[in-house]
Amino acid sequence: MLEIAKELTTCPFEKLHPSQLNRDDEFFMKLAYNLAIDAWNADEVPVGTVIVHGEEVIASARNETRIANDPTAHAEIIAITKAASSIGDWRLNECRLYVTKEPCPMCSGAVIMSRIGEVHYAAPDPKMGCLGGATDLNALPFSNHKAKVSSGLLSQESLALLQAYFQVKRQNPKKKPSSKVEIEGG
Ligand SMILES: [Zn+2]
Repeated sequence: MLEIAKELTTCPFEKLHPSQLNRDDEFFMKLAYNLAIDAWNADEVPVGTVIVHGEEVIASARNETRIANDPTAHAEIIAITKAASSIGDWRLNECRLYVTKEPCPMCSGAVIMSRIGEVHYAAPDPKMGCLGGATDLNALPFSNHKAKVSSGLLSQESLALLQAYFQVKRQNPKKKPSSKVEIEGG
């Protein structure tokens, strides 16, 4: 029984090995993807984020909602706090955020409030995504900041990771946090 439980908490997906020589958008999204795998291995919803300034990663995080018992401990929120601390400025206009799932309402709000310059997300979230999926906080008519948003990099891989995670959770409902199909907590 223990063996099975252990197996189910281990992510069956392999980490990616991006070349350090080509530090492009795909490179940084691969780093975020690897953090999503770390999240799964910690029994968290597999979402990962890195924030980049120039060519340097200044913050990285994965979901920690369960371990921190904190509904705000999404990867993006944690990374935004770290990034602001790293550059000593809460305004992140010069930064780019890479995340494996379209940000939820809370994280999309944090993107706007922190004035992040660019957001690149992998898997779209038509249910809870708020940068164009379910709705678009970036389109608030009187907001004085709009992040440049792009999507699609590693979207299939990141979605497959999320879907597989929730499938495992459904098959093993004793292991919380979620027995629902929907993508949440990212
Ligand atoms: Zn979120």
